[in-house]
Amino acid sequence: MTSRHLTIESLKQGGRPDRVAAGPFTGYFAAEHAGIPLGDYVTNGRLIAEGQLRLQEDLGQDILITAADTYYIAEAFGLKVDMHQNALPTAKAPPFNDPGEMRHLGVPDPFADGRMPVYLEALECLRAAVGDDLAIRGTGTGPFSLAAYLLGIDNFMLRLMDIESSESSDDDARNMRDLLGLMTETTLRFVEAQADMGADILYVGDSLASLNMISPRLYRAWVQPYHREIFTALKEKTGKKAQYTMIHMCGSNMEILEDMVQTGVDLIEIDSAMDLAEVSAVVRGRAAVIGNIDPVHVLKEGRPEEVTRACWDAVGKGLAGGRFILGSGCFVCPGTALENLRAMVDCAHGWTR
Ligand SMILES: [Zn+2]
Repeated sequence: MTSRHLTIESLKQGGRPDRVAAGPFTGYFAAEHAGIPLGDYVTNGRLIAEGQLRLQEDLGQDILITAADTYYIAEAFGLKVDMHQNALPTAKAPPFNDPGEMRHLGVPDPFADGRMPVYLEALECLRAAVGDDLAIRGTGTGPFSLAAYLLGIDNFMLRLMDIESSESSDDDARNMRDLLGLMTETTLRFVEAQADMGADILYVGDSLASLNMISPRLYRAWVQPYHREIFTALKEKTGKKAQYTMIHMCGSNMEILEDMVQTGVDLIEIDSAMDLAEVSAVVRGRAAVIGNIDPVHVLKEGRPEEVTRACWDAVGKGLAGGRFILGSGCFVCPGTALENLRAMVDCAHGWTR
C-alpha cells in the first residue's frame, strides 16, 4: 500500500488501512530541515516542494504539506507584511477598520493575487514529483481568521461582541455577514483550485475561531455556518473522487466538537489540548481524526522513548473512534529532533491490523 493509498484508506468511510498513516504537521519545519531560509520558502513554491520532498526522504511520513505561513490570502486584499530572511512574515497595520469599507471588494484570483500562487505552485510541483505515491495536503485560511487579519483581531472581535450584545446597528451586522460571506467565497475559490490540481486533503485552517479565542455561541453564529458552506461546496465539487476536506483550529474545542462534525468535514485536526479518548467518543467515526502528539512538550522536548509512548497511547485512543491518522495537532516546532519525528512515523507504521 503506497502512502497515498494508505492515507485515502484512513480517510474514507469503511477504509481498510494496513497500518496507521503518519502525518505530522511539518509545514515550515521542512525549510529548516532542508536548510532553506524561511523568507525564501514562503515566497517560492518550488522551494516549498523541495523542502517537503527532502524531509519526506529522511522521515518517511505519508503526507506532504504545503502550508507554511499565515497571510498569503489576506495580502490579496491589501494586507501588508514584513518579510524576514529567517522568520515567517509578520503583518503590518490592518488595511480596514469597518467591514462596510470592504463592500466594493470582489473575490481575488488564486492564480494571481496575494501569495496564493506560491502555494499553488508548491502543490503543482509536489504532485508532479510524487505522482500516486504520497498524499498531499494543501493549505487555506478560513473566513473567520481572514476577516480578523483584515480588520485587526481586537477590532474584529470587539465588533462581533457588540453585534451579539445588540449594541450595534442592523447595518453593522449586515456588513459583518457580507464580509464573512466574501471571505468564505475567497477561501472556497482558493481551495477549489487546489482540488482541481489534485490535492488529496483540502485544508482549511481557522485557528482564531477556536474556543481559546471565542465562545461556543460566537462559533455557532459566526463560524460554523460558513465552514459548513465551504465543506458542502467542496463535497459537491469533488463528488466521488478520493479528496477529503479538513479543518484545523488549534486549541481546546471539546464543547464545539459536535458542531464541527456537523459541518460535514471529513478530517478534524485535534491538538494536544484535547483528550483523544473523549474526542473519539464524540466523533465516533463520522469524521476522521488526526492528532495529537504535543509538538512542544513531547516532540520537541521529549526523548524518542517518550514520543513512542505518547504515540502508542494516541493510536489506541484514536482508532477506538474509527478513522485515525497520527499527527502533531499543530505545526512541528523548529529545533525538533528528526529522531523524535522518526519515532512517531515508526509507531504509526508499526501498527498492523
Ligand atoms: Zn494550530
